[in-house]
This record gives sequence, structure tokens and C-alpha cells, in this order.
Amino acid sequence: MKESEEITKPESQHFIEQFIEKDLSEGKNDGRVHTRFPPEPNGYLHIGHAKAICLDFGMAEKYGGKCNLRFDDTNPTKEEVEYVDSIKEDIKWLGFTWEDREYYASDYFGKLWNFAVLLINRGLAYVDDQSAETIAEQKGTPTQPGTESPYRNRSIEENLDLFYRMNEGEFEEGSCVLRARIDMASPNLHMRDPIIYRILKTPHHRTGTTWKVYPMYDFAHGQSDYFEGITHSLCTLEFEVHRPLYDWFIDQLQTDDYRPRQIEFNRLNLTYTVMSKRKLLELVKEGVVSGWDDPRMPTLCGLRRRGYTPESVRRFVDLIGYTKVEAINDVSLLEYAVREDLNKRAPRVFGVLRPLKVIITNYPEGKVEQMEIENNPEDVTQGKRLVPFSREIFIERDDFMENPPNKFFRLAPGREVRLKGAYIIKYTGLLKDNKGEVSEVHCTYEPETRSGGPQSDRKVKGTLHWVSAEHALDAEVRLYDRLFNTEDPAGQKDEDYRSFLNPDSLEVLRGCKVEPSLATARPPDKFQFQRLGYFCVDNDSTTGNLVFNRTVGLKDTWAKLNK
Ligand code: ATP
Ligand code: MG
Repeated sequence: MKESEEITKPESQHFIEQFIEKDLSEGKNDGRVHTRFPPEPNGYLHIGHAKAICLDFGMAEKYGGKCNLRFDDTNPTKEEVEYVDSIKEDIKWLGFTWEDREYYASDYFGKLWNFAVLLINRGLAYVDDQSAETIAEQKGTPTQPGTESPYRNRSIEENLDLFYRMNEGEFEEGSCVLRARIDMASPNLHMRDPIIYRILKTPHHRTGTTWKVYPMYDFAHGQSDYFEGITHSLCTLEFEVHRPLYDWFIDQLQTDDYRPRQIEFNRLNLTYTVMSKRKLLELVKEGVVSGWDDPRMPTLCGLRRRGYTPESVRRFVDLIGYTKVEAINDVSLLEYAVREDLNKRAPRVFGVLRPLKVIITNYPEGKVEQMEIENNPEDVTQGKRLVPFSREIFIERDDFMENPPNKFFRLAPGREVRLKGAYIIKYTGLLKDNKGEVSEVHCTYEPETRSGGPQSDRKVKGTLHWVSAEHALDAEVRLYDRLFNTEDPAGQKDEDYRSFLNPDSLEVLRGCKVEPSLATARPPDKFQFQRLGYFCVDNDSTTGNLVFNRTVGLKDTWAKLNK
């Protein structure tokens, strides 16, 4: 497939749009569409979250509704302000806004406490003094009912007294919990008297030491949706089995016919990638990567630093769509999406990664010509630039071979090549260093072959990129490969995902040579280094010490695989 050919997807509606439109046509929720994106601030967002963000904010946008940002911050031991800030930055970067609707599950700790007290008063919750392990052992199996706790029939008064004392700090962490009193024989294990409150003495990033008991995620999530008037609560498939429990809580709270409708969709998984926040945190903590924004990470800040545009991420999410079937998406489709986007926007430049000097022996010493070269053939409005040409240039080391095979259409003894935007040059000789490596290639040029000149369209087999040696800027270039060398590193039986780390996922090249127009390049500027791929200026880059990341190569492996 050529870069200009686009992969198109059918314009049909996905099942969530169909559900929403049906609700609207039936006049539900007075025609309101109100969604939320509910991240837990215990890590940075990854591309999987982008799929949820595009849906939550996208459905609100499409149906003239609203989307809240709600931090599900129910676990003070794992959550940090750093994560809250990064999540907000990443959502904005993707191009979405929650306006003034920034909420926290911790805003509802008071309401949730009152609700728990209400459940106790109705005989629907009890304090259990057993350990979490014992409670888990008593859960039973899908075919075997669970065992009732000996504390299940405590009096309302005793439960109230204990729950208050739990929150006053009288008991140690883990010594008791509050459980909903539902049904130990339910075929759904989540309904077998789930734990709804536990004691945690770590201060919370927002509520400090106000609380000693914290609601479990399952006791906070659905009710928070309800408190916010969410109409469509979109989440990933693993929550489908939690839905009856969320519904049960809402049944106890509901005062009219409003209730959030939960709709589940498939998670995004990518080949050669791990996606769980726990594993990503391990990679960061263990120093396997340089940080959450390491360009090899599937985090949004990693992709951003790698040179991905928000448009390319959104386009990718659009291409994979939403279904009810779990699958692993091919990472090369993500690469396709960024390549397609950068093809349109990134100006072309010359950069030589592994330089080999070429001396054009019949070109006058000291002479400099400014070659006028188009910035982007895909977009003429990007204009042209001047690239200096002189007697000594650098070409790519692997664009020359002393003993080439027949099909080698680049520079070699006896051969001619075109220097893009400049002249056709012909090989005349070479020099080697004391290790026997080619240190310099000698050529001659013909003035009539200058780009635009009388013999400029003379047929030669190869065209090379180049930079003028005296004008070139030094640069560091970081090349990335996949972080893992197997398609599903997290899904291998008995093997830790770390054993599939690709030892060659990062290659740092120093002494690269780039054209002088890049002197003013700043992060996050993006370019196509001709013939080499798309590159962006890294955050580490400074004037005089340019650093580039390769976002993606030019070769489209995805399109090839799908021919
Ligand atoms: P992880 O499993 O990576 O720790 P999580 O589900 O615990 O992720 P949350 O912060 O709770 O992370 O996720 C916020 C929202 O993003 C949830 O609605 C969740 O369903 C959704 N989400 C998380 N991972 C993915 C994914 N891979 N694909 C699609 N949506 C996702
Ligand atoms: Mg979660």
C-alpha cells in the first residue's frame, strides 16, 4: 500500500451508538446524554485509556451531551497527585475537555458513608471480623454456594457501633470490614456479601486523615455515576459481571426512574506491548525504561514524546472500533495511523544517521550553492527551503558498497547516483582507514545534471539523501524497536512478561549529521528524514545538542500484512 492510500472503515454505527440512540428515541433521561471518564489516579494513562476517553467524550460530543472527568480515588495507598496532573494533561492533549466538571470519588465519601449507614440500618450490611483471606475462602465457587460468615447476623446496633469505631481508628487495618448482606448462594460471586468498606490508615491525597475507612471501588463507582446523573456509564467488559451488584446498590438508592445504564465494550490490547498499569509501573520502578514517558511505553506521554500526534491516536482508536469481543490489536496499525498523519504534516529534511564522507573532487573548493528543495510533496503550502551544497558531503554509510550485489542501486565502484535536489555524481575512488574501513569516497559531478538543469532527468537507478559536511549540524538520534519480542508478553503461561523484553529496543546514535535548517527545531517539532522515517525533536534536545526520536519508519508493515 502506498502512503497516500487510506484505510477506510465502514460508516456504520457501533452498538453503543445504537443503544444511546434507542434511549434517546424512547425519551429516556429527558433526552440527556451524560458520560464520564473514570480513571483511578494510580498511574499514567496508556493507549487503552485513549480508547475509553475517545468513547466517553466522543459520545457526549456526538449527542450534544456532557462528559465528566472523575477520579476514582478510593485507594489512598496507591494514588498520587502526580498521576492526577498527568491524566488531565493527557486528556487535554487528546483534544477533549471536561470544562468545569472535574470530580473525585472522594468528594462522595460523606454520601457513601451515609449510604453504608443506611444499608446497616436496613439490615443490608454488617461488620465482619474475619480476615480477608477467610472471607475469600468462604466465597465458594460458581457451582458451590459460599459459606455465611458467623458475623452475618449481628444486630443493627452492634454493626452501627462497630462501623463508627472502625472510622475512629480504634481497629487495625485488616481486622474487620463492612460487607453488604446480599446472598451467599448467588450464582454471581460478586453478589456473595461483597466487602464494601475497609480500614486504611494511609492519608488520602485529598481528604487527608479525615477517614479511616474507605469504600471499595465497587461500592463507589456505580453510586458516583448515580450522584452525577450519568446516563450512560461506558466501561470495559470485565465489569459486566459487576453490573448486577452496581444495580443492587442503585436499587437501594433510587428515588425515581433515573438510573445510569452501564454498557461494556472490549479493552484495547496491543501486540508486543503490556498494558496493565501495574506492569507499566514495574517497568518504571525497575528502571527497564527511563520513565513513564519513555518513548517505548504505550503511555500517552510516551507516545507523545515518541512523536505521535493526538490525531493519529484518535484515528487509530477510530479504526479499531468498539465491540463485545476481546482481541489483541496489531501495533502496526497504530504505526500506520501515525505514519499516515505525519505524511501529511511533517516537512521533509535530510538527516544522515551513520555518515560516510563523499568528496566531489571536481567541485570547486569553497563554493556553496543553495539548492531549493520542496518541503512536502503532499502539501505544497509548506513551500520550499534552501539546502546548502558543497564539495564535501555526507551520505549514509550503507548507501555505499565496495562490492555490491547486482540489485544494489546506490553508490558503488563504477556507478552513478542522484543526490536528491542536487546533482548526479559518479564514483571515482575511495580511501580506507587503518582498520580497513572505507573512510572517504571520491566522486565527480556533472554541472548539467543539477536539479532543474538540462540533464536533470537523466536516468539513474538510485537517489540518495545527503548533507553538506561543512554546514551539517551534529545530532543524537534515538531509534526504537518494540519493547517486547513476543506478540503477547503478558499472556504467556508460567513466564514472566519481563523475560520477553527486547534487548535491542533502544539504539542511540551519536554523531549523526542533519541539515542546517534544523538549527531552530524544538520539541515537539516533527519531520520526515527522507528515506529513513518520521522523527521528532526530543525533550532532551538543546540548542547545539540536537536530539531526535524516530517515531516510526517509512515502511508500512501493517498494510503489507493485510494485502
Ligand atoms: P489497568 O488495567 O491498566 O490498570 P484500569 O482499568 O485499572 O487499567 P482505570 O484508571 O480504572 O484503569 O481506567 C479508567 C477507564 O479506562 C475505565 O473505564 C477502564 O475501563 C478504561 N480502560 C482501562 N484500560 C483500558 C483498555 N486497555 N482499553 C479500553 N479501556 C480501558
Ligand atoms: Mg480500574
